[in-house]
Amino acid sequence: MKNISLYIHIPFCKQKCMYCDFPSYSGKDALMEEYINALCKEIAREASKYSYNTVFIGGGTPSYLDEDNLEKLLNEINKLSLNRNLEFTMECNPGSLTKEKLDIMKRYGVNRLSLGLQSTKNSILKEIGRIHSFEEFKSNYSLAREMGFNNINVDTMFGLPNQSVEDFKNTLGEITELNPEHISAYSLIIEEGTVFYKLWEEDKLKLPSEDEEREMYEYCVDYLNKKGYLQYEISNFSKKDKECRHNKVYWELEKYLGCGSSSASLIDGKRIKNTEDIKEYIEAINSNKSAKVEIINLKEEDLIEEFMFLGLRKKEGIDESIFKRKFNKELDSIYEKVINFHINQGLLVREKGKIYLSKKGIELSNYVMKDFILDK
Ligand code: SF4
Repeated sequence: MKNISLYIHIPFCKQKCMYCDFPSYSGKDALMEEYINALCKEIAREASKYSYNTVFIGGGTPSYLDEDNLEKLLNEINKLSLNRNLEFTMECNPGSLTKEKLDIMKRYGVNRLSLGLQSTKNSILKEIGRIHSFEEFKSNYSLAREMGFNNINVDTMFGLPNQSVEDFKNTLGEITELNPEHISAYSLIIEEGTVFYKLWEEDKLKLPSEDEEREMYEYCVDYLNKKGYLQYEISNFSKKDKECRHNKVYWELEKYLGCGSSSASLIDGKRIKNTEDIKEYIEAINSNKSAKVEIINLKEEDLIEEFMFLGLRKKEGIDESIFKRKFNKELDSIYEKVINFHINQGLLVREKGKIYLSKKGIELSNYVMKDFILDK
């Protein structure tokens, strides 16, 4: 059986955060049980064809599932062929996590938690629509530690409305005091269809300036580095050997299977997407039909571009020998001119068979990456 990765999508949230454009919904709890039953069927039907190195339950808010449904789902996943050194992550949000749920996760082999915090300042949490306070986060975090979870990621955001540089520095300080194994720091992007988009259009969002946002990011990289967190991707930092292996699968275009509404798979050069509609998903699975709504046969050029974009986001960059193995050609046969141009501008570095963004290149990453788009 092929060793790949598995993503499971849980589309429920207690409340929609104001910046969120993920396929997640509040007020649909009545569908939870039917959804999990359908999801278990899809897992039994589709996921039993492979064995797994990593499993990631994301969403939405997987920890929002009630105990019975959580146990049912984890039990189904445990029937699969899971490798001995499995990385098994579950996304959790404070305000939806209990000792009982953590106990179920522990019993069924979840060995990595990804906790959504975003900021340690309660007024900011409220303004961005989070359902929890920093105190609730800390109590969930301590509980998880007491119960033996020794691989925890904490999600943060910067560039938030009414967030000062000082606020973000405090957030990083308070998080690193807790000593998680992994920290991710994403800048706020105002996405269409979100509450923030509407407020932004009406000029009602007080966002930090570009300079302040740059200062936040630069501080973040330096500060976390000093605290022993290695930056291994533009937005991800970890203690030694605690990088998220599941994320690396996405960034290196390795195979993964997605189950659940809105989930995507990358299998045999095809990108496959399930329907976002929860009811449609349940109906399709229950009538033994496919929930897939999109199957794209990726052309080699698409895969090469994506490999470059995702690879350049990684601190270690692109491994030229992996490129050659994957695409059966030298990187230079396609990108020699572009690479040399950006090396001369001081934005790219090429050494020991790898190509990566310099410090300045990370700041101007969008400018560099657009040159890796191929004429098709
Ligand atoms: S908890 Fe996560 S998935 Fe749910 S609305 Fe907030 S950001 Fe989106």
